[in-house]
Amino acid sequence: MTRVNAKDIDFNNLGFDYMDLPYRYIARYRNGQWEKGELSDDSDLHVSEGSTALHYGQSAFEGLKAYRTPEGKVQLFRPDQNAKRLIASCNRLLMPEFPEEDFIEAAKEVVKANLDFVPPHESGGTLYLRPIMMGVGGQLGVHPAKEYIFTIFASPVGDYFKGGMTPTSFVTSDYDRAAHQGTGKSKVGGNYAASLLPGEQAKKDGYSDVVYLDPLTHQNIEEVGAANFFGITKDNEFKTPLSPSILPSITKYSLLWLAEHRLGLKVSECDIPVDDLDQFKEAGACGTAAVISPIGSLTHHDKKHVFYSETEVGPLTTQLFDTLKGIQFGTVEAPEGWIVPVD
Ligand SMILES: *Cc1c(COP(=O)(O)O)cnc(C)c1O
Repeated sequence: MTRVNAKDIDFNNLGFDYMDLPYRYIARYRNGQWEKGELSDDSDLHVSEGSTALHYGQSAFEGLKAYRTPEGKVQLFRPDQNAKRLIASCNRLLMPEFPEEDFIEAAKEVVKANLDFVPPHESGGTLYLRPIMMGVGGQLGVHPAKEYIFTIFASPVGDYFKGGMTPTSFVTSDYDRAAHQGTGKSKVGGNYAASLLPGEQAKKDGYSDVVYLDPLTHQNIEEVGAANFFGITKDNEFKTPLSPSILPSITKYSLLWLAEHRLGLKVSECDIPVDDLDQFKEAGACGTAAVISPIGSLTHHDKKHVFYSETEVGPLTTQLFDTLKGIQFGTVEAPEGWIVPVD
């Protein structure tokens, strides 16, 4: 890879692409403990061909962003939640926990070391952080690795919706993303390899992604690609599916809190039957990448359901989006503990 220079980046026209930045954080687990982590200027990992991450998918990841405020300061959004979720993923795959405090410190270090790459506030871009935990070391049998690498690399990414949110169309999938007692609620690598085929098929058919249904009955909505689902009912209730195979989105729980405490909506986590979409006046997919991606329509068994509009975004979705984005970029007052300054 060729290393990029911050001066050469057009921050107003970034996509969601990997860039080889000067620094990443890397820590190794050997002999039953974490060795002291450090910043590294080497963007290639040197791991044994026998690494469990490569053969057996013993790996988990996270995704969070650093945001520049109008004053030029840089801040993280709820990194403690990413640290906790990574610990939960590690517990599921028998990988060692990386302590929450060290996770937050490492994230700050990576941002500070690459500060020139945090896009300016007005660009709407952010510095995306990708923490990864992986089992490494020479081994053949199916058992947990003895050695691990925890790393956080960074890459500047653009505003997902330049010129404002736009609704897109989705289609339900006959594939399952995860089983109820499987790994759906863990952010582990294998889940995403398995999602490539259904996602690709949907895109070929002209949709932006698939909506997964619950693996037991295929009657309830679970996830929207690699994002969570929410709908706002005609009587102003923010509803989101409850299931053991859904990845608990930090964005979703933040929106749920804001819906209740800032917008005054009722909120609930419950079954959302795909045959009962008439209850909703607005719907969206949510996650760190886009905050909210409004769902214009959902096609299920050749029947298309339109939510608010296929071209326009509903007022409550817009209000939720503006509130959360404002908090992340430092223009709206944040609930206590949601914002962690980097510098
Ligand atoms: C990461 C992820 C999300 C979104 O989580 P955030 O914490 O909001 O970024 C939702 N669904 C899946 C399957 C994910 O992997």
